[in-house]
Amino acid sequence: MREIVVMKLSSKIYIAGHRGLVGSAIKRRLEQLGYQNLLYRTSAELDLRDQKAVDTFFKNEKPEFVFLAAAKVGGILANNTYPAEFLYDNLMIETNIINASYNNSVKKLLFFGSSCIYPKFASQPIKEEYLLTGELEPTNEPYAIAKITGIKLCESYNRQYNTNYISVMPTNLYGINDNFDLQSSHVLPALIRKFHEAKVMGKEFVEVWGTGNPKREFLYVDDLADASVFLMENFGTKDKGSLVNVGTGKDISIADLAKLIKKIVGFNGEIRFDSSKPDGTPRKLLDVTRLTNLGWQAQTSLEDGINKTYKWFIENDHS
Ligand code: GDP
Repeated sequence: MREIVVMKLSSKIYIAGHRGLVGSAIKRRLEQLGYQNLLYRTSAELDLRDQKAVDTFFKNEKPEFVFLAAAKVGGILANNTYPAEFLYDNLMIETNIINASYNNSVKKLLFFGSSCIYPKFASQPIKEEYLLTGELEPTNEPYAIAKITGIKLCESYNRQYNTNYISVMPTNLYGINDNFDLQSSHVLPALIRKFHEAKVMGKEFVEVWGTGNPKREFLYVDDLADASVFLMENFGTKDKGSLVNVGTGKDISIADLAKLIKKIVGFNGEIRFDSSKPDGTPRKLLDVTRLTNLGWQAQTSLEDGINKTYKWFIENDHS
């Protein structure tokens, strides 16, 4: 059964995490579409780990729709180094916002998970129903456990209280406002920085972590924002499951990604692999049949998306 929920241009919409990669793309998309009543707070104004502060915020503001894009995120090294924060911060943020949404009669909430919630050795492409059918990848298990809890919290409120909370599992994301810090970023922005700096400094080679063999799927964040607004209106808890994957349906090896970024940046040196660094999950390709059947498809090619992200990096990164 298809449930359609319409957000009016005047609806009060809270974007949790509006300065992050995902939240800022959602804000851009909603503004572009003419939504006039967007609500957001910086982390200095509202600490989402603070239950009392979140309750007061919801009580005072009474949002009608919530995009829950606030999270502690990071690449393989950050996840491996700060497991306690990745579990604690994410659990606190999710439970506070989901519970406050219920207490304040939010009409619909969209929670962002991640493709790393699926088992490390899941068959590919990964379908939504593979959740909790096998062991997780150890490098990001705490983060994945937090995200799985968020999904289950949404499902539990839906089951017990008949709420309308959906969960979206994006594949690896990239785009403007990404994190380009080499200690905490994901592979795609890290390689943009590494190749760019190597070109500017005239270095002979760029070091790529791991063997280069793992495969990843990359989605341009503006495509995710477009899909999220579409899903807020067109995907409900009465559709199959309350979970939907968002991706492109195509993946690429880290070695081929490095070659592509090298070409886009215009670096002429060598690529060297450092196999002392972890590879992580061997492959993480999402099955996007559920999303495609609803009528949505990604529009931005990997090459176009990297070009846009590189341009943004050059213009905006002053570190
Ligand atoms: P993952 O998708 O959760 O494994 O997270 P990442 O995006 O951080 O890493 C994806 C893959 O890219 C892993 O196999 C990394 O070892 C590899 N990789 C290669 N070079 C880099 C780099 O400079 N930074 C990061 N974060 N990953 C890299």
